[in-house]
Amino acid sequence: MDTTTTLTGAAPPACTVRNPATGEVLATLPDTTPVRLDAAVRRAVAAQRGWAALAPGERARLLRRFADQVDVHVPELASLEVTEAGHTIGNATWEAGNVRDLLEYAAGGVERLTGRQIPVAGGLDVTFREPVGVVGVIAPWNLPMPIAAWGFAPALAAGNAVLLKPAEATPLTALRLAELALAAGLPECLFQVVPGSGPVTGRALVDHPDVRKIVFTGSTLVGKEVAARCAARAKRVTLELGGKSPNIVFADADLAGAADPMSFLDNSGQDCCARSRILVQREVLEDFLALLLPAVETVRTGDPADPRTTLGPLISAAQVRRVASYVTPDLPVLARGTVPDGPGFWFPPTVLAPARPDVPAVTEEIFGPVAVVLPFEDEADALRLANATRYGLSGSIWTRDLGRALRLARGVAAGNLSVNSHSSVRYWTPFGGFGESGVGRELGPEALAHFTETKNVFIRTDA
Ligand code: NAD
Repeated sequence: MDTTTTLTGAAPPACTVRNPATGEVLATLPDTTPVRLDAAVRRAVAAQRGWAALAPGERARLLRRFADQVDVHVPELASLEVTEAGHTIGNATWEAGNVRDLLEYAAGGVERLTGRQIPVAGGLDVTFREPVGVVGVIAPWNLPMPIAAWGFAPALAAGNAVLLKPAEATPLTALRLAELALAAGLPECLFQVVPGSGPVTGRALVDHPDVRKIVFTGSTLVGKEVAARCAARAKRVTLELGGKSPNIVFADADLAGAADPMSFLDNSGQDCCARSRILVQREVLEDFLALLLPAVETVRTGDPADPRTTLGPLISAAQVRRVASYVTPDLPVLARGTVPDGPGFWFPPTVLAPARPDVPAVTEEIFGPVAVVLPFEDEADALRLANATRYGLSGSIWTRDLGRALRLARGVAAGNLSVNSHSSVRYWTPFGGFGESGVGRELGPEALAHFTETKNVFIRTDA
C-alpha cells in the first residue's frame, strides 16, 4: 500500500477496494487509528465479560443463530467476494458456506469445552479452560472469509471477544459478517471489524496490551514481525504463513488425478496450499506432462461471476507484477494459458521447467497461477527435493504403493499432507505449518482449546 502523501497534502485512504476483474474502485476506507482501536478494545473487554458469563448452551445457541444468518446470506456474501476478491462464484459460494460450517462446528464445542479432574492426595484437583479475553484476528486477502472464521468462530465459542482486521484489499465481507453477528443477537462489540492498513491498524492491534492473543495469517515476512512484537509482550500468537508445497508423483500413480491443474490453479494460485512444485518420477514425466499441459492451456479464464469460469483474476496490479517477476526469460515455459484482454489484473496459467532447483521460481512462494516441474529419480530423491524448502505447509503424494505413501507422508516435513488427493483443509481436522509456514495449529477438535488458558485448581478436602 502507498502511504505517501498526495500532492494536495491529503493522505490516501488506507484501504482501496477494487474489483480485480475490472480494476474499478468499489470502496475506500480509512485506517482504524490507534485511538479508535483502543476504544474498540475497551468495548470488547466489557462485552467479553458478559459473554463468558453466559450459560454455555446460550452461547452455543447464539453462535448457531449467527451460522443461520450466514447461511441465509450465502449468495450475497459470495457475490461480494466475487466483486472484491475476484474469486469465481463457485469458490466464493463454498467460502461463504464454509463460514457457516465453521460457526456450527464451533457452536458444537461450547458445551464440550471440558477441563480435567486429576488424582491428588488430600483433595480434588480440577482444570478449567478459561477464555484468553480479547483476541485479534489478522486476515489476508486470498481467502478473506474462511480464514477470518478459522479464528473468530472458535475464539467466540471459547468465550472470547474478537477484533478482526481484514486485509486492505478485502474488508467488505468482514464488515458484512459483523452485521450478521449483530442480527443474530450476539452482544454489541463482542465481534468488531477494524479495517485499516497493516502498519497502522495491524500493528496497533498486535501492540495493544488488552489484546491477549493474535491469530495472524499472511506472509512469512510480516508474520515474523508480528511474532517478535507478540514475544516482547508475552502475548499468545498463532501464525499461518506462506507455502511452497510439493505435488510428488511416482511412476505407479493415477497420473490423471495427479495432473489436475487445479492443484496449483485454484483461486488463481493465490492459495497457501497450492501444489506449485510438481515433482515427477522421470520415467513418467512425458506421460504426466501430456496430461497436465493441455489441461493448463485450456483452463477457462474470465469473468469470475460466470459459473463456467474456473480461473479468475489476481487480487491487484501489484500482485500481477510480483508473479510476473518470477517468470524470467531464462526459464523454459512448458505451457501458458490465456487471459481476457482489457482491464483487470490477469496472469495466464503457466508451467515452467527450470533447469536448476535454486532459482526463485522454485524456492519462493509465487502466489499466482504458476508451477514448476522438476523430475526425480527414486524415493530418496523425491523426499530430498520435497524437503528442500524453508516452508512446510502442505503437499500431495501420488502412488499406489501404500508403504511408500506412508513413508513419504511421515518423511515430508509439512503440516497437511494428502495421499492420492489434492485436498488440504477441512474445518474439523487440524491445520498448520512446519518450518517457516507457521507456528501453532488451527481448526480440528482442539480449535476451541487454542483460545483458552488452562487453569489448575486444588481444593483441600482433609480439613
Ligand atoms: P500480508 O502479510 O501482506 O498481510 C496479511 C495481513 O497482515 C493483512 O491484513 C495486512 O494488513 C496485515 N499486516 C501487514 N503488515 C502488518 C504489520 N506490520 N503488523 C500487523 N499486521 C500487518 O499477506 P497477504 O499478502 O495479505 O497474504 C498472502 C500471504 O498469506 C501468502 O504468503 C500466503 O501464503 C499466506 N497465507 C497463509 C495461509 C495459511 O494458512 N498458512 C493461508 C492463507 C494465506
